[in-house]
Amino acid sequence: MGKNELNELVINLKGIGEKTSKLFEKCGVRTCGDLLSYYPRTYDQYGPVVPADQVRAGEINAVRLTIIGTVSRKRVRNLSIISFEAADQTGKIKIAYFNAPYLFNSIKAGTTHIFRGMVQKKGSFFTMDQPKMYKNEEYASMIGTLMPRYPLVKGLTNNVVIKSMEQTFKNIGTLDEYMPQDILDRLGLMSYSEAVRNIHFPKNSTKLEEARRRLAYDEFLLFVLKLRMVKMLQEEAVNTCPMIEVAETARLLEKLPYKLTNAQMSAWEDIKSDLSGKGVMNRLIQGDVGSGKTVIALLALLTAAGNGYQGALMAPTEVLAAQHFESFKTIISEYGLKNLKPVLLTGALSAKEKKEAHRLISEGEVNCIIGTNALIQEKVNYKNLALVVTDEQHRFGVRQREALAGKGLNTHVLAMSATPIPRTLAIILYGDLHISIINELPGGRLPIKNCVVGTEYRNTAYKFIKDQVEAGRQAYVICPMIEEGEMDGVENVTDYTEMLKSVLPGNIQVAMLHGKMKPTQKDEIMEAFARKDIDVLVSTTVIEVGINVPNATVMMIENAERFGLSQLHQLRGRVGRGKYQSYCIFINTSASKEAAARLDIMNKSNDGFKIAEEDLNQRGPGDLFGVRQSGELNFRLGDIYHDSDLVKESAMDADRILGVDPELTLPQHSVLRETLATKSANSVDFATL
Ligand code: ADP
Ligand code: MG
Repeated sequence: MGKNELNELVINLKGIGEKTSKLFEKCGVRTCGDLLSYYPRTYDQYGPVVPADQVRAGEINAVRLTIIGTVSRKRVRNLSIISFEAADQTGKIKIAYFNAPYLFNSIKAGTTHIFRGMVQKKGSFFTMDQPKMYKNEEYASMIGTLMPRYPLVKGLTNNVVIKSMEQTFKNIGTLDEYMPQDILDRLGLMSYSEAVRNIHFPKNSTKLEEARRRLAYDEFLLFVLKLRMVKMLQEEAVNTCPMIEVAETARLLEKLPYKLTNAQMSAWEDIKSDLSGKGVMNRLIQGDVGSGKTVIALLALLTAAGNGYQGALMAPTEVLAAQHFESFKTIISEYGLKNLKPVLLTGALSAKEKKEAHRLISEGEVNCIIGTNALIQEKVNYKNLALVVTDEQHRFGVRQREALAGKGLNTHVLAMSATPIPRTLAIILYGDLHISIINELPGGRLPIKNCVVGTEYRNTAYKFIKDQVEAGRQAYVICPMIEEGEMDGVENVTDYTEMLKSVLPGNIQVAMLHGKMKPTQKDEIMEAFARKDIDVLVSTTVIEVGINVPNATVMMIENAERFGLSQLHQLRGRVGRGKYQSYCIFINTSASKEAAARLDIMNKSNDGFKIAEEDLNQRGPGDLFGVRQSGELNFRLGDIYHDSDLVKESAMDADRILGVDPELTLPQHSVLRETLATKSANSVDFATL
């Protein structure tokens, strides 16, 4: 392989024009090298042929059926529709094709074919739209093979991606290895070239898993190497912004309606000693949802302000940033914390508001800057930033945390995360940070009551929500989609809101929230919900992280089987945050046994650590491509739980490599160094969710 082939633009591939290359660009693919790291979302398994009575709605099935009765051919406006029924001994299925005149001859009553496609249930009938048709032998030869399915944007088809990928593989031949051979031998990992090929076009599922493992190892090693290098720089940094304890933190602790838990207290002690110590603070606060991390952040920010410095708090979503800003303002006025002057800076502000915020920040008129990753934009100049706090750190990358810290000189860093990872892994993955763990929930909380139910339970759930609202509480309902038509059989926020309005009594206020709404609109809705002007909030996962409305007691999750367990745990964490008994209703719309077993884990435990562990026990290697954990230390192919052995190996290897070659200047590490410089270690931008 030459570098040139990898740097070749995809537009120069055969069959790729201006238009398609623009679509590729939307997916972050400009060069053939980019294309090779554009991994499939999942794979289509050509499974065995099943009898008609064993198809499952929502799944892709292959069925051998004979066309029965008459084949209807209709025209509706400019759409031609062929529809018919087909059956085997066990049952029948309704099949339809649109604009497919080329099928005219093959579809005849009495003929038998294998139909493979998405099964849906309409009324009492199973249906398949546009299934692919195969002859017996043809299908038999495909059973067991895996076809990649790529993440797509509108206009880009899976086929085009596959064709481009095939061409690229032909052009480049073998890819160079950049990992030290002794590592590959020791861990039994396949070569880079073979791994890249098999991640796109796996020979079989064993090869696919080997490829994934190899590339996962690469991700971990690059990540850990980067961390180690960051850490080396940090260790030299001296505390040029030492901070002493200020009166306002004591005042806040005295006036709060609760006492800090012991775990919160010891985290706070750690922070105080860091801030006044010799080095720069680099600390991670790890605590499950609802353990009370925000107040710790506030104490640190008060300390910075009291010492004459600026502090910044970065949250992964606009909704969460706005909520922190509002709640800080309330606390400031309630407890008379006059030294703290907050400002909000997110992409949601108008150009004029942003300009004003930038001015306040650069002139030092504010000292507590709250926002999204708008905080790290180039235009933002801080007067004297000495502390940065990242809330829900697992939603950011190291790079973003570093970028924010880089806005000041020797800035203290406090990262907060609810990711339940064992300490041994946390030490590696947050290797540049010291860790404080908040391992207890505030007292007086009642454990959340859970139930996993089918769709037939919906009416009971609505009645339950009604009763809770009438008792003065509030509820969330989560749907995976925003509007109709995005996916069949999946609830969407828009229609669900209308439906709930008609089902619930008129005096119950129902509103919706999703990521496509204007930021100001989102803020208004969230504030109205916090003020209790809205009783039931139908939302996408935009509220997944951080949102705190202690009066809300019901979390109802539609299509719960579509979410990762840690995501469900985060969503459930939106309730049970106050003194009221709270409830979580998981609606399982799938018939699959695996889904039921996974949701059962949620049913049985409210503990983030246990859930992560159990989830791991139940998942097989192939499942990793199914339900991706959202945001969890977001590696693309690696899974920190499943591949924890590789995480540990990569940490040891990183130490070995840097031990002999701290700056990666030896010739055998040159490709590694280059890869490290060009591939950005895990970081995802969640601010626009
Ligand atoms: P998280 O750790 O998920 O960010 P928050 O900081 O949002 O949790 O806290 C959740 C709720 O618990 C908030 O309403 C907060 O006021 C409350 N809280 C925090 N600490 C305590 C405590 N020690 N005792 C009682 N309630 C607390
Ligand atoms: Mg929080």
